[in-house]
Amino acid sequence: RVKEEGRNSYRFFTPEMQAHSSRMLALGNALKQALPRGELYLEYQPQVSLHDDCIIGAEALLRWNHPQWGMVSPAEFIPLAEANGLIVPIGEWVLQTALRQLRAWLDSGLPMMTMAVNLSAVQFGQPGLTDMVSQLLQQTGVPPEGLELELTEAVAMKTPEVAAQKMQELSQRGIRLSIDDFGTGYSSLSYLKRFHINQLKIDQSFVRDIGTDPDDQAIATAIVQIAHSLGMTTIAEGVETAEQLDYLRAQGCDQVQGYHFSRPLPPDHFEAFVRTNLQARQQAPAHAVQAEV
Ligand code: C2E
Ligand code: MG
Ligand code: MG
Ligand code: MG
Repeated sequence: RVKEEGRNSYRFFTPEMQAHSSRMLALGNALKQALPRGELYLEYQPQVSLHDDCIIGAEALLRWNHPQWGMVSPAEFIPLAEANGLIVPIGEWVLQTALRQLRAWLDSGLPMMTMAVNLSAVQFGQPGLTDMVSQLLQQTGVPPEGLELELTEAVAMKTPEVAAQKMQELSQRGIRLSIDDFGTGYSSLSYLKRFHINQLKIDQSFVRDIGTDPDDQAIATAIVQIAHSLGMTTIAEGVETAEQLDYLRAQGCDQVQGYHFSRPLPPDHFEAFVRTNLQARQQAPAHAVQAEV
């Protein structure tokens, strides 16, 4: 019976599905050449502190501009890179590039910032991750506190014992750890106290309707409270409106990131954004700067 169903299953393999899987196959193949061909690059999105309205960090976000297909979303190609293992060399390149960029910004006089880098579960599972990261920090002369690794709940929950050990290693070296998309995974809250986590990143799905949905308000508030009670900070992602910002500020959320301040930017635009902001700060009284950022 099962066999028959299997044989007949071509009926359910629609032309749309066929097209989708050919695209995935083609993308997966093209991705192998993307790094050597220079098709990958990073953009940087500012992270703003709500304590002093300063830009205190950047999140590095990977971009792929394919010569034929144009921009391919990381939501589409990161899972492919995870499936075929390419995320390992690509992820190392991301770390190196982001740390070099931070070094260059510091050398050109920008104030100290943290560079947030996304780490996939596959990367996190690599033996020698801690040494690889430490080596890149040394090579680039970025202090460990300048790096914040963004992990998802899936990373933490896959093999909790191994994860706990690794997080401890990283955090003992001074590297900061943040849980990305917090609240969207299937994890037990008990890991929050066992793991060495510095920050919870409130997922944008809870931020989006904060102005209209009391449930999302309650969730955002609860995340800030649990983080603070356990000695962690919070950052909200996907902040697009002043209304969302006001709510998060009133709840004591520590940092924000989103289109309300800036989209992810190429390096020179990011640098200009920070400089413009610093200038405004030097020229204007504090209350005017608050309105600025
Ligand atoms: P993420 O780490 O949760 O990143 C946040 C995503 O939200 C980014 O999408 C960012 O561009 C977008 N975003 C920022 N502000 C706003 C806003 O105000 N409104 C809306 N609607 N979106 C906003 P992006 O760049 O397309 O990246 C998607 C995901 O791909 C990331 O989610 C992350 O999981 C993954 N990713 C990106 N770069 C890397 C990387 O270097 N390594 C790994 N492993 N994953 C990456
Ligand atoms: Mg941060
Ligand atoms: Mg992230
Ligand atoms: Mg996220």
